[in-house]
This record gives sequence, C-alpha cells and structure tokens, in this order.
Amino acid sequence: PTPRRPIVAGNWKMNLNHLEAILLVQKLAASLTPQQLTDVETVVVPPFTDLRSVQTAIDGDKLHLVYGAQDISQYKSGAYTGEISGAMLSKLGVSYVLAGHSERREYHDEDDALVNAKVKAAFANEITPILCVGEGLVTREEGTHVAHCTNQTLAGLAGLKPEQVKQIVVAYEPVWAIGTGKTATPDDAQEVCKAIRAAIAEKYGTDVGEAVRIQYGGSVKAANIASIMAQPDVDGVLVGGASLEAGEFASIVRYRE
Ligand code: PEP
Repeated sequence: PTPRRPIVAGNWKMNLNHLEAILLVQKLAASLTPQQLTDVETVVVPPFTDLRSVQTAIDGDKLHLVYGAQDISQYKSGAYTGEISGAMLSKLGVSYVLAGHSERREYHDEDDALVNAKVKAAFANEITPILCVGEGLVTREEGTHVAHCTNQTLAGLAGLKPEQVKQIVVAYEPVWAIGTGKTATPDDAQEVCKAIRAAIAEKYGTDVGEAVRIQYGGSVKAANIASIMAQPDVDGVLVGGASLEAGEFASIVRYRE
C-alpha cells in the first residue's frame, strides 16, 4: 500500500480577521520550505470571512499551503440565512471542510445525521471532509470511548462509496482534550485511531482502511507533536489554539526534525 501522507491542519475557529489571516499565512509560508510543505500536507482552516483573502495570498505567491472551511451547509442553495454552501466554498478553491467539529455538535446541536449530510454535501462539491469524532469526559470515564468513536465515524460516512471513504480524513478529538491543555496520551490517541481504521476496514475493505488518513486533535503543540505522530495509526493532527501562532504551528509541521 502507498504510505499515507501526513496532514497537519490548523483550525483557527472564530479568530483572526481577513487582514490578520493574510499575515499569518505569509508568516507560515516564510517559516516552512516548499519541501517541508510537500512532505507534510499543511492546511489552514480560517473563518469564512477570511477565505477569499487566504486564497489570494496563497495563489498570488504560489504557496504550497492548502486551506479549508470550518463548516458547510447541508443544503445546495436557497432560503437558509447565514449558511454557506459547498458550491460557494468550492468556487473559493477550498480543499477541505470540517464536518461535525465537537463545538458544532455541542453548541449548534449537530447530530450524526446532519454531519453525514454535510459530509455528502462536501463530496458533491469536490471538497474533502475532515470528519471530526470524539468522546466527552463521561464516556471516557465509563470506558465506552472506542465504541462511541467508531459509531460516530460509521454514522458520519453512511451512504458513501468505498472510493469516497478512501479520500476522507477522520479527526479523532477527545472533547475533554480540546482547548483544555489536557492532551490524550499517545497511547490513548493510538487506541482510538487504530479502532477507527479497523472499523472502516471492516465495512469498506482493507484497502480503504489502509488509505484513510486519521488525525488526532486536542491540545496539540510543538512540545507533544513528535510522540503523537510516532503512533502507527495517527497520520496527522488537527490543531486549534497552537495554529494561531506561525512559529508554533510551523514547528508542529516540522515534527520530524
Ligand atoms: C480543535 O478545536 O480542533 C482543537 C484540537 O483545539 P485545541 O488544539 O485548541 O485543543
């Protein structure tokens, strides 16, 4: 099987206006060589209002960075005030979109059916979904976190063809580790990422399981990235807080050095 290309994505959440976004993209590109950006796929995930500026900065300087959006509407177009469609994102050259980030699940009541509809909307517009899954603290303490995460993954992928599942990125983000400074241990991350891969392999075939990229997310920083990336089933990371600082995010991308 072809080795999985590592993927580091920075979720800016509701931070940085479009001018600050351009500055961060430029600093990031100056901190990383084209070779480093080829070895590790590096994705920035800014707010919607920054996307056009980020596109211009990346295209204008031919930077080897890609960008994604934080959310996508399940609808094609029409009377959905405040929503952003897949077609709009695709027109802006967006490569990835987060689907089912825990903050969307928690604060905007996104359930697995809605997340699945968003995953499908992404594919309909040739955007690769980063399907986010992860357990809360209660589930972790009950010890049912593995089943919780594999169920969320399969529910998010329902109705997709194996060729589509192959392309997807799954982000395992234990909710108790997001923005809390508490990182799962590398073994915790490996346990769940391995189980997600096995569940995908069982349903869609071994080749699909081997191809799909799985990220860990939750208080990742330069100081803990190497031990996380050393895990065989962790192919990358989804980074929140530490993605807002160019030097720190660049050090995460250079985790091998
Ligand atoms: C996230 O929101 O995807 C995340 C992992 O946040 P943080 O790195 O800040 O914990």
